[in-house]
Amino acid sequence: MNTVIHNTATASLINSLECSSCGKSYSAFEFHKLSACCHMPLLANYDLKEPLDKATLYSRPGTMWRYRELLPVLGEENIVSLGEGFTPILSLQALAGKYGFKELLLKDEGQNPTGSFKARGLSMAVSKAKEFGQEGCIIPTAGNAGVALAAYCARAGMKAVVVMPRHTPKAFREECLWYGAEVHLVDGLINDCAAKAGELNADGFLLDVSTLKEPYRLEGKKTMGYEITEQLDWQLPDVILYPAGGGTGLIGIWKAFRELKAIGWLPAEAKLPRMVAVQAENCKPLVETFFGRQQSARDYVGKPTIANGLAVPRPIGEQLMLKTLSQSEGTAISITEEEMVLGMQELGKSEGFFVAPEGAALWIVARKMLASGYILPQEQVLLLNTGSGQKYMDNVEGKYKV
Ligand SMILES: *Cc1c(COP(=O)(O)O)cnc(C)c1O
Ligand SMILES: [Zn+2]
Repeated sequence: MNTVIHNTATASLINSLECSSCGKSYSAFEFHKLSACCHMPLLANYDLKEPLDKATLYSRPGTMWRYRELLPVLGEENIVSLGEGFTPILSLQALAGKYGFKELLLKDEGQNPTGSFKARGLSMAVSKAKEFGQEGCIIPTAGNAGVALAAYCARAGMKAVVVMPRHTPKAFREECLWYGAEVHLVDGLINDCAAKAGELNADGFLLDVSTLKEPYRLEGKKTMGYEITEQLDWQLPDVILYPAGGGTGLIGIWKAFRELKAIGWLPAEAKLPRMVAVQAENCKPLVETFFGRQQSARDYVGKPTIANGLAVPRPIGEQLMLKTLSQSEGTAISITEEEMVLGMQELGKSEGFFVAPEGAALWIVARKMLASGYILPQEQVLLLNTGSGQKYMDNVEGKYKV
């Protein structure tokens, strides 16, 4: 692996990495995974000045790479892309009308390559792996991240090893195999897969791209925050609902809003959205910590859920997620398996979206929060649907009500 790289063809403004726990600074031009000081996630810092004028931005292709100055890839030739990002934001008029929302929006990440927002993070992580001369990557996954890693590694000509729970719907592992990845099945949840990945990669030959254990997946996910802002014409929604597992999306979107303020594309006084983390009753470590029912998720035991992406019992990004919730004056909430199925059916029947159970959970929560008064009828609400429902058939087949 190359240890130091210098190339500014993308005009990336990245200037350092920073330990999310103590703030210690690390070089962005050497390869780092977790911080050496605290073994916690590293966050990328940029020279936060206005990177380009908006007219130039608007003239660029509709992918997440239109923000390349604010992304970490240095050499344009290292970008590994399948056209990810710039997914549409659509209005849910039928449901809004029926339940009394003034404006209910859905950003449909199911339209990304490989059917989920995991494409953003893995496109970025694999691009950086390529930039640093890495030959292969390994990932513990609940499903979607593994598929995305397999696809981007295939595109980059790199080896991919995917470790997923045995109960994951078959379509996830099948797709990985079509991309030529090596797939391992483990009895347990993603934390058990992480342990297995550690064993498989004991010699460290492969780059472990586990959630937040390297700094770049987060940089891919943050582009959702840039897009929401640009697509809504630099006016943010009042509330964003996000299905939180490992938390990269939640943390990344919030990082993006703060960066946009720093470069002046959002006014310093702009009110940022309240961020709501949605989890499954079966695995809700963040909800438990947020409401003080445990000190941290360190010993939390979760159960499987049909929303596979939410089965993350001990997220390393817990502190960063909690910080996002408190800084944004948001909250955390969980819902049942049955409610997710109902949400899938309502979004399907009323709006024509076949969303992942993770995304369906958001709609149910929006409806409950309007009823409880947490969301006001005149507020603009955005549901961040993280994935398509198509690969979840083993979990939901035939469960719709006629
Ligand atoms: C991974 C995943 C999530 C959880 O995302 P994080 O950023 O890890 O919190 C939610 N929904 C889907 C469909 C996923 O694949
Ligand atoms: Zn530190």
